[in-house]
Amino acid sequence: MNFSYENFPQRPTWTELDLGALRRNLQLIRADLPSPVKLLAVVKDEAYGHGALDVARIALEEGAWGFGLSTLEEAMHLREGGLAAPLLLLGERQEAELEWCVAHNLTVCVNEPHSIRILARIASSFEKRVPVHLKINTGMSRYGVRWDEALPLVEQILAEKSLRLEGAMTHFAQSDEVDKTFANVQIARFDEVILALAQKGISIPLQHLCNSGGFLDLPHAHRDMVRVGILQHGIFPSQVCRKITGIAPVMSVKARIAAIQTVKPGESVGYAMRYTATSERRIAVLPIGYGDGFPRVRNEGCALIHGQRAPLVGGVAMDAITVDITDIPQAQLWDEAVVMGRQGDEEITVRDLAQLKNSVTYDVLTNWRLRLRRKVVNHQNNFCYGLNTDQTLIQK
Ligand SMILES: *Cc1c(COP(=O)(O)O)cnc(C)c1O
Repeated sequence: MNFSYENFPQRPTWTELDLGALRRNLQLIRADLPSPVKLLAVVKDEAYGHGALDVARIALEEGAWGFGLSTLEEAMHLREGGLAAPLLLLGERQEAELEWCVAHNLTVCVNEPHSIRILARIASSFEKRVPVHLKINTGMSRYGVRWDEALPLVEQILAEKSLRLEGAMTHFAQSDEVDKTFANVQIARFDEVILALAQKGISIPLQHLCNSGGFLDLPHAHRDMVRVGILQHGIFPSQVCRKITGIAPVMSVKARIAAIQTVKPGESVGYAMRYTATSERRIAVLPIGYGDGFPRVRNEGCALIHGQRAPLVGGVAMDAITVDITDIPQAQLWDEAVVMGRQGDEEITVRDLAQLKNSVTYDVLTNWRLRLRRKVVNHQNNFCYGLNTDQTLIQK
């Protein structure tokens, strides 16, 4: 079935992506960054749920040098979308993926001798000289060669004629907290490697350490490039990091009121009867639930309707939540409700939802499901179009 008919009736539950805000955020980030420092826009996991192709195209126009991704599929999706910019795969590659990476000019991070040998062999069979980035573990203890064991690996890479050591990177365990002690330990370990290489006359053109937190708070670690993810989407990595004024959230989540019930005193709402009315209440049903990524809470949180907070009552079901609209008498069937974002003077932030979930903002952004319709808007240029779950355009 082709859902891209213009008249296909869309589900009244959607994520709204303000590409004008995205562009503005990228402009503010670019303007804040010293001009020689390159910007690697991290667009893994569908650009944290915002749509990788849309985000990448705009980031490219706003001066991004290349893109950071996590999986081969993500990188191929951007190549097939026509992006020719450098794509850096940040995680670990299986051997079987390397040939694809070479064939499609996807840059990989290397951190152990075996895959360097394999990659070099594949690159020479393609008659290519392939850029690689050395991943150095300076204390995150996830991916990468230990900083105090990195030198032999560099020598191995330099000895391979089909490889070009384009970059060296590390990743901070803690960059957005007030205490920067460990981040500075990591920087010092990284510098140990760089210094030892310099003494041998070896220099690496692209050194990069910073995520959004490092970009904001560790300017001495900017080096040649920063890898910015969440900040593009208008969300600061923590509450204590430096703030750039004008950065605004890109994503909102909305649903229309699908039913209204009057509940009499003593009657309950929803599964397991976790809410019982003590007076007559007017309850709105919003067709969004944990199956869409809404946190599975009970009697906590709210939605915005007519610019007012409607408290959530009862539990969250797979496909529905119930909110109390007794104090919003003008609310009617199919009125718009905001479950994440702004309406009038009120706002439900990504952080509010993260607190409900007992988690982090990254988790909230990436967990909205693709069964939500994606609607792309641009409040600056006042245009709007809908996107299907497979991200094909459905209406102008
Ligand atoms: C995800 C990721 C980033 C981006 O982090 P943000 O905090 O979203 O800016 C940067 N570098 C690496 C290696 C990552 O995996």
